[in-house]
Amino acid sequence: MKIPKGFRFGGVACGLKPQRRDLALVVSDHPAAAAGVFTINKAAAAPVLDARPRVPAEGMRAIVANSGNANALTGPAGLDDVAVIRSAVADALGVQKRAVLTASTGVIGARLPAMKIVTALPALVDQLGDHPDLAAEAIMTTDTRPKMAAREVTLGGKAAIVSAICKGSGMLAPQLATTMCLVTTDAAVTPKALQEVLSRAVHRTLNMVTVDGEMSTNDCVIALANGLAGNPRISEPGPDLEVLEGALTDLLGEMGRAMAADGEGATKLLEVVVTGAPGDEAARDCARSIASSPLVKAALFGADPNWGRILSTVGARAGAANYPIDPFKARVSMQGITVFGDGAPIEFDRENLRSRMRESRIDVLVELADGATRAVAWGCDLSYDYVKINADYTSLIFQKPDGGVAKDDRVSNYSPAFKRALLAEALKYIAAFSGQIAVIKYGGAAMVKESLKDAFAEDVSLLKKVGLKPVVVHGGAPEITKTLEKLGERSEFVDGMRVTDAQSLPVVEMVLTGKVNQELVALLNARGAGAVGLSGKDGRLLRAKKAVHESGRDLGHVGEVVEVNREFLRMLLDGGYVPVISPIGLSDEGGSLSINADEVAAKIAVALGAKKLIYLTDVPGILESSPDGELVRQLDTADLTRRVKAGAVTGGMKWKAQSIVAALAGGVERVHVLDGRQPHTVIAELFTDRGVGSLVTA
Ligand code: ADP
Ligand code: MG
Repeated sequence: MKIPKGFRFGGVACGLKPQRRDLALVVSDHPAAAAGVFTINKAAAAPVLDARPRVPAEGMRAIVANSGNANALTGPAGLDDVAVIRSAVADALGVQKRAVLTASTGVIGARLPAMKIVTALPALVDQLGDHPDLAAEAIMTTDTRPKMAAREVTLGGKAAIVSAICKGSGMLAPQLATTMCLVTTDAAVTPKALQEVLSRAVHRTLNMVTVDGEMSTNDCVIALANGLAGNPRISEPGPDLEVLEGALTDLLGEMGRAMAADGEGATKLLEVVVTGAPGDEAARDCARSIASSPLVKAALFGADPNWGRILSTVGARAGAANYPIDPFKARVSMQGITVFGDGAPIEFDRENLRSRMRESRIDVLVELADGATRAVAWGCDLSYDYVKINADYTSLIFQKPDGGVAKDDRVSNYSPAFKRALLAEALKYIAAFSGQIAVIKYGGAAMVKESLKDAFAEDVSLLKKVGLKPVVVHGGAPEITKTLEKLGERSEFVDGMRVTDAQSLPVVEMVLTGKVNQELVALLNARGAGAVGLSGKDGRLLRAKKAVHESGRDLGHVGEVVEVNREFLRMLLDGGYVPVISPIGLSDEGGSLSINADEVAAKIAVALGAKKLIYLTDVPGILESSPDGELVRQLDTADLTRRVKAGAVTGGMKWKAQSIVAALAGGVERVHVLDGRQPHTVIAELFTDRGVGSLVTA
C-alpha cells in the first residue's frame, strides 16, 4: 500500500484492552490542513466534543486514537482526560498542543485511564514508521480484520497519495460518519476545500453504510493534508479538487464496503442500488432502509430470496415520508435475477437464486419508475452472532481495577432451547467419532487472532475430551515473513513456496518450532489438552528430502516428506497426548528442511490411517474462484483435480489441493477445508448435521 509523503504511523498495546493493540498515532512531519466529519449524536463523546470545533484548520500535526474505551458519557472528567492526552502527545512529538487531535472508540461510560496512554507514548513514538498496519490494528474493536487502503492521483502534474485506516463493526448507521476513519494525504489543499470534499465523499459513502442502524457517540472521520506532494495548493473548485474528491470518494467507498462486510457477526456484504427515485433523499432513504431492515438482513443470513421484504420496505418508506413512489411499478432484482416487475412477481429458478444467495456479496437492485435519482447503500446480514456479540457486550466486558477493560470470553449466551438441540445433535457424532484420529492443519487467520487461537485451543481440548484423538500440524507463514522482515530480509516466493536460503532457514525453524509451536502447546495445555510440541526432527518424526520446483528452480532448504515415524506418533496418541507438529523435516544429512504444512498434515494422516483430515484456513473453503466465488460444499478428487487444471484453484489452495488428493488416495476418508476466521468451526463441522466449509472425498 502506498503511503503519502511525510506521514508516520504507530500502534501499540497500552493496556486499555487485554493483550491487544489499542493505541494508534498518526503524525505528519509538516503542519497539515485538517478537516473532519463527526457523529450527529447529541450524546457525543469527549474526543468528538474536543475535535469538532477545531476543524477545519491549518497546522495539525498528529491524531492519537485509542480503542477499548470510548471516553463517552464520562462527565467533565472526559474532556480533562482529552486535554491530558493532547498535552502529552504534543510534548512527546515536540509540537503544539493545538496541533493534536484525539479520537476514541470502545466501551461507553467508563472513565478513560489517560495515564495508560501517556505512559505508552514513548514506545509509540519510537515505533513510528511508514506503514499504517499497526495503527490500523490498534483502532480495531470487534472488527475481525484491519482496514486500510490508498489511492494515487495526479494533481497539477504531481503525484499525490490519499490513504486511510478505519475501523467499523457495530453501532454503525447512516446519517453520520459511521466510523473512526483517519485519512492522510500529501496533496496540498486548503482546510476549507478539504472539508468540502471530505463532507461530500462521506455523504455518498460512509453515510450510506449501515450495520445495525445504531448511531454511535464517537464516529469521526478526520483528514490531514500536508502538501508534500508539491502540487499547486487547491483552494477553489476546479479539476484538481474534483480529482481529489473522486479519489477520496473511491477510497471511502472501499472502506465503507469493508466495514459492512466485516459488520458484527456479518457473513455477507449487501449492496443496495435504488434507481429511478423522485429525489436524492428518497433514493438514499429507500436504499438505506432496505440495507438496514432486520427482516431483509435476517433473510440474507438464511440465503432466502425473500424479495417481498425489500419491496415492502420501499412502500413503507414511501408511505411514511410521503415520497411520490409507486412500488407497484418497481422492478426488483437480486444477484442480477429479476424477481418482481410489471406489477407482479416474476417466475425465477428458486434453487439457483438460493444458491447464489450463499455468496459472500448480495446485490439488490430496485428500479423505481418515479424519477431519475440513484443511490447506493451498503449493509450486511443479521446473524446469530450479532445478537451474541452485543448481548455479551456489557455483561462480559468489565472494567478492571487498573482502568483497563477485559472480556469474559466464555463460549456462549445461547438460549437453553438452542443449546439442548445442539447438544442432542452433537452427541450422536461424539459417539461415532470416539477413538478416531483426526489430523488438523492449523493455518491462516485462526493462527493470528487471539480470540480465534483461544477458540481453536478450546475446540481441540474438547475433541480430546470426548474421545477423539487430535493431531495438530501448524504452519506459520505470516509470522515467518514478519520476523524475516524485521531482520531486513525479503521473502521470495515461487508458486506460493518460500525460497529458504541458508540464512533464513534458522529463522524459519526458530519461528515455527521455537515460537509458534510452543505458544500453541502452552495454549492447549492451559486447557488441559495434554499437548506435546514436536518438530519433524524430534524422534525422526518426519524424514525428508530436498524438493525441487517443477520449473527446476532451486528452492533452497525446502523439502518433502519421505517417511513418517508412525510408531512414535502412535505411542504418543496411545498415551493420551495431543501431538503438535511444526513442519520441519530431517534430511538424510541430519539437517533441517522446511516443508509445506499442508503436505505434512496429509502425510501424517495417511501414515496414521486417520479417517479425517481438516484444513483450517482463511477462506470459507474451496471456492468456485478466488477470492469471491461461491463455496463448493462438496466435491471429489476428480472434481478438485479438474478445478486445479482449469486454473480455478491457485496459490496456497493449489498446494492444499495436491495434499488433499494425496491424502484421499492414501486412504483418508474425508478431508474438510474450513474457515478458521469463524470461531469453533472445527466443532461446528464435526458435531453438527449441516457441515461448514468444503468436504472432499475420494
Ligand atoms: P493457509 O495459511 O491456510 O495454508 P494459504 O494462503 O496457503 O492458507 O491458502 C489459502 C489461499 O488460497 C486463500 O486465501 C486464497 O487466496 C487462495 N485460493 C486460490 N484459489 C482458491 C480457491 N479456488 N478457493 C479457495 N482459496 C483459493
Ligand atoms: Mg499455505
